[in-house]
Amino acid sequence: MQTNLADFIKNFPEGKEAEAIIRSCVHCGFCLAACPTYQLLGDELDSPRGRIYLMKQMLEGEPVTQKTQLHLDRCLTCRACESACPSGVQYGRLVDIGRGIVEKKVGRGAVEGSVRYALRRTLPNPGLFATMLKLGQSVRPLLPEGLKHSIPSVQKDKKSPRLSPPPSPAVRHPRKMLVLEGCVQPTLAPNINAAAARVLDRLGISLVTAKNAGCCGALSYHLNAQEEGLNYMRRNVDAWWPYFEPTSRDGRTQGDHVEAIVMTASGCGVTVKEYGHLLRHDPIYAQKAAYISGFTKDISEIIEAEIPTLMLLLNSGPSNTNNGKKPKLAFHSPCTLQHGMRIQGVVEKILVAAGFELTYVPDAHLCCGSAGTYSILQPELSQQLLKNKISALESGHPVRLATANIGCLTHLSSGTSLPVEHWIEVLDEKLACGGEQRHQTTEQATA
Ligand code: SF4
Ligand code: SF4
Repeated sequence: MQTNLADFIKNFPEGKEAEAIIRSCVHCGFCLAACPTYQLLGDELDSPRGRIYLMKQMLEGEPVTQKTQLHLDRCLTCRACESACPSGVQYGRLVDIGRGIVEKKVGRGAVEGSVRYALRRTLPNPGLFATMLKLGQSVRPLLPEGLKHSIPSVQKDKKSPRLSPPPSPAVRHPRKMLVLEGCVQPTLAPNINAAAARVLDRLGISLVTAKNAGCCGALSYHLNAQEEGLNYMRRNVDAWWPYFEPTSRDGRTQGDHVEAIVMTASGCGVTVKEYGHLLRHDPIYAQKAAYISGFTKDISEIIEAEIPTLMLLLNSGPSNTNNGKKPKLAFHSPCTLQHGMRIQGVVEKILVAAGFELTYVPDAHLCCGSAGTYSILQPELSQQLLKNKISALESGHPVRLATANIGCLTHLSSGTSLPVEHWIEVLDEKLACGGEQRHQTTEQATA
């Protein structure tokens, strides 16, 4: 697409990057059918091609209005359009640049600005988030329907392993990997990282955490507080660097030598894998961030590399006692996993190897409507997408649902009576007790 950038942006790195991305779009429209908001609203301006055109106009100096902002706000940043695009248009990077410029030019009203500020202050802070969640849950029944959906209800099943996880195994193996605790996950589902630690411990790998690491920075970055998001990223680079930094000429490392940084939330994983790109203009952090990104892996990539050992465990343990009957499970692949990191079919392969029957999920490429803070800021569209996703996931009559990101997990849980878990919890349970007992209980309950 021919582009002539305006003076205010053309000599800046983000202007040059945006121009290259816009030029790579050939206007073919293949992305339209993949776009959830275009499917729901049927407006070209709520499609990838339409939004690219809006951003092109803005970068060429045309007036920017609240209408421009609305169409960019409605985008889920699900990046399904990137998977569908034959020209490799990096839409996700473009929309981050575009949103940052719109924010500066149009701003936000007092109420909307305060909500966004409150989200940026609360969600990345685990202590504050835990307190606010308890408060929200205590008044949840009194809240209007739209707001109610944003607050996860107290789990009815108090015995849920996600709420009272068994302790993580002690660090005992020479093979070690770092794990990111994240921001909301330790409060909403502490069992996810505990399950990852147990599964990896059986595979001969110990998980360690870096004391000062925290929120990956995605939340602030995607709410257009980009410098704030970059500061969270710098903080994590500083926290993880000692685990990689050579301390002597013979290449030894200080602290615990780690093989990788493991992500159990695909929303964080996709961001940490992009630290190198996002911090590439920072003279102090660029190199370290690129190195950190190169060592970052989604938990599915780690388990996939260990499949031979996993199969030995599955075939020798109590997990081999299913009487030939395979538990039916539907897997929701988060957008950050399948479109952001382009990890497709890996979790499915692991779950099938572990003895589950995966049910067919129509339109599996579509977003569930969680999308970070989207479910709070765009509740109507988010709820429509949730309804469609649940109906697709339940269409094959599974007895449980699994996913790979805490945001999707919480969002899906609000729309179904089926148990929704992280797939690593499902695998952990399978390794521990064969997954049979719970499967039977769930089947009996839904009979
Ligand atoms: S599919 Fe790619 S090249 Fe075609 S219109 Fe969409 S973004 Fe542009
Ligand atoms: S990121 Fe998702 S919602 Fe946004 S334009 Fe692309 S497909 Fe549509």
